[in-house]
Amino acid sequence: RPLIGVLALQGDVREHFAALAGAGAEPRTVRRPEELAEVDGLVIPGGESTTISKLAVAFGLLEPLRERVRAGMPVYGSCAGMIMLADKILDPRSGQETVGGIDMIVRRNAFGRQNESFEAAVDMADVEGGPVEGVFIRAPWVESTGAEVRVLARHDGHPVAVRQGRLLATSFHPELTGDHRVHEAFVAMVRGTADR
Ligand code: GLN
Repeated sequence: RPLIGVLALQGDVREHFAALAGAGAEPRTVRRPEELAEVDGLVIPGGESTTISKLAVAFGLLEPLRERVRAGMPVYGSCAGMIMLADKILDPRSGQETVGGIDMIVRRNAFGRQNESFEAAVDMADVEGGPVEGVFIRAPWVESTGAEVRVLARHDGHPVAVRQGRLLATSFHPELTGDHRVHEAFVAMVRGTADR
């Protein structure tokens, strides 16, 4: 079972932990660089991307995260985690940093006030067995993508799931649904690396 970390600075860490266990991984919380060094892959949870960014800096994790991403570690980010994987934020708060790695621009809180939280069926490439239930909570969307980025799903025309190499990101929260197919797809990405 691949050892997959959940970045445990802020956000819905427990839900990802449970989803990873359900998807056949061995989950581990990551708060320190030494813990990051041990895992085969990492999940960056949903939560508040500004807070996660500031805590990553405070815990001395931002540079180690960037280094592991550059070295090819698989990472999955949901919602705030998607924002953390974006090379660029359209409307960053002051001082807000990202890990980056996915050549995309994201728009925070993109779906607007009338639609702060909603659920929608999302058809996602690479996930078999019908649409997944997309839970969107003050969710970002992907404003634009570079040539290396594959759009796996859209909602209202906007990309809400993307992949670049071993980096996967969704605007929505599969960890809240009890459906582990997105996490299974990520675990399979990690296994590909581990078997290499
Ligand atoms: N709106 C949040 C942010 O900008 C993300 C919300 C979430 O992760 N559910 O970080």
